[in-house]
Amino acid sequence: MRARDLLHPRPEGLYCPPGDFFIDPVRPVGRALVTHGHSDHARAGHGSVLATRETLDIMALRYGEGFAGATQATALGETIDVNGVSVTFHPAGHVLGSAQIAVEHGGIRIVASGDYKRRRDSTCTPFEPVACDVFITEATFGLPVFRHPPDTEEIGRLLKSVKQFPQSAHLVGAYALGKAQRVMKLLREAGFEKPIHIHGALAKLSSYYQSRGIDLGDLQPATLETGAKGDFAGAIVIGPPSAFVDRWARRFPEPISCFASGWMRIRQRAKQRGVELPLIISDHSDWDELTETILETGASEVWVTHGREEALVRWCELVGIAARPLHLVGYEDEGD
Ligand SMILES: [Zn+2]
Repeated sequence: MRARDLLHPRPEGLYCPPGDFFIDPVRPVGRALVTHGHSDHARAGHGSVLATRETLDIMALRYGEGFAGATQATALGETIDVNGVSVTFHPAGHVLGSAQIAVEHGGIRIVASGDYKRRRDSTCTPFEPVACDVFITEATFGLPVFRHPPDTEEIGRLLKSVKQFPQSAHLVGAYALGKAQRVMKLLREAGFEKPIHIHGALAKLSSYYQSRGIDLGDLQPATLETGAKGDFAGAIVIGPPSAFVDRWARRFPEPISCFASGWMRIRQRAKQRGVELPLIISDHSDWDELTETILETGASEVWVTHGREEALVRWCELVGIAARPLHLVGYEDEGD
């Protein structure tokens, strides 16, 4: 069997003909295996979904209980037979519940890693390299210019600014699943003990994280109805990035606009969004982590799914690993 007979791209997503399933399909399909809960990978309307318990719970929180005809939860490291194909989920270190999916059949093992990062993140299980013949990798930050600084340094800059401007509210844009909770956790680990104010769009997911034993401390709704404007002086307010471009944000005292994203490495992007304090905190691998991970898997072939495919494909070729872009569409980096 050739690797591309075991998994290959279709308009709906990566398809496994012998197992008759898709991985992270972007259109409704009969049987879907889902790596993690970001909306570009986890969509509603499939006949059945196989995923980790956390990913299924997150999908139910976002789409409602009836998001799929049927669901099946799998534990990390457990091997499941799907129409004769062995399927095992391994941790991806991206967000709570995120997994790489190893697909094995006819003597070939392919690992579809979904989105992943290698940095420590105490809100999810760390990435584990899995030996394989073909490694399928994202390339969101697949250019040598992308090297993420330590997240503790970025949080340190935020806390320094909070100290320096006590009259201001610091408004931190962060994606609702994963990034927001990681920022909260980093603030707690850095010793910030005051309540953290959150936009309503983060409430359900944050309390779900808390219910899974991830202590985010005291989270308070960032509603101005409950207090005068002055109550938010010196506060840290976290909300989805979209919230801070509308009128909602202007109600806070002397707001300082912050954004936690790997894209904040690019000054121009921060400027375009009106971000005064860019925080380079990413839930994706940077260039060094992508290339080190490829080598660690020992894969003789690499398929690149989404992001800046060309540079990573070229790097693989230079080190003697066969590589090709898959040109999958529909993945928009919800959690960059
Ligand atoms: Zn993601």
